[in-house]
Amino acid sequence: MAASLQLNKLFAVVTGGGSGIGRAVCHRFAKEGASVAVVDINSDHAQSTANDLAVTHDECKHAAFTADVSSTWSVKQLTENLLRSYKNTPTILVHSAGITKDSFMVKMDEKSFDDVISVNLKGTFLVTQAITKLMIDNKIKHGSIITMASISGRVGNLGQCNYSASKAGVEGFTKTIAKELARHDIRCNTVVPGWIQTPMTEAVPEKVMTKHLGMVPLGRLGQPEDVADVCLFLASEKSSYITGASIEVTGGLFM
Ligand code: NAD
Repeated sequence: MAASLQLNKLFAVVTGGGSGIGRAVCHRFAKEGASVAVVDINSDHAQSTANDLAVTHDECKHAAFTADVSSTWSVKQLTENLLRSYKNTPTILVHSAGITKDSFMVKMDEKSFDDVISVNLKGTFLVTQAITKLMIDNKIKHGSIITMASISGRVGNLGQCNYSASKAGVEGFTKTIAKELARHDIRCNTVVPGWIQTPMTEAVPEKVMTKHLGMVPLGRLGQPEDVADVCLFLASEKSSYITGASIEVTGGLFM
């Protein structure tokens, strides 16, 4: 029975695992037999996800880690804590941690721009670099790195020049590392969500949301599980010939 699990006994690190898409990824991966390290800047939320996993999927070790993905020091502490706790090297990384700080470009302060680039883009670099080094040093087979971009990074979105730039950057970053890491048997792919129902989109005014929803051919908001299913595919051997790809999960928005 256990052998049919898609991530049987694999070790996965999921940033942003305390909420929304990251949380759904943690649950999906644990259901498929992975041990999940739940990473978030919000300790309570990370712990809450890990506690839930321990109840629903108790066959594997799940643990919470507090880290700020935009801080070199914090990411270094994270890798040390991961090794101390699991005594094992991750095979899978999903980098879902992200923030928005919206405002029209002419009104945007420098800090809002820097903060979003720092968490979304630099954070992707710092965490991916740290985990990849572990994978290479320990000669991990069939590694999978999954980053989180956004449809805003492809088509732009009013009030999100910082966010769109960060997410376009994540796609370029991922395609480049896909080329660099293929020889180490590590695949790197990006998921490109559209409008997904999470705390991040709860902040969007209803009027704006209604307008955007009207443009979604499938006629509904995406659920975090819709994105988690694609992450599972990219993490598993079912996508073994896919690297450097960006997969849109948008309900057909802007196709
Ligand atoms: P969310 O706000 O529900 O979850 C994001 C998580 O990241 C939170 O738990 C937060 O605490 C954590 N986080 C924020 N800053 C961090 C930091 N510096 N270090 C560590 N953790 C940090 O948002 P979500 O909707 O689940 O978004 C997940 C990812 O998907 C993000 O990268 C987001 O940009 C992307 N995305 C979301 C949507 C959407 O519609 N929800 C659309 C496109 C892309």
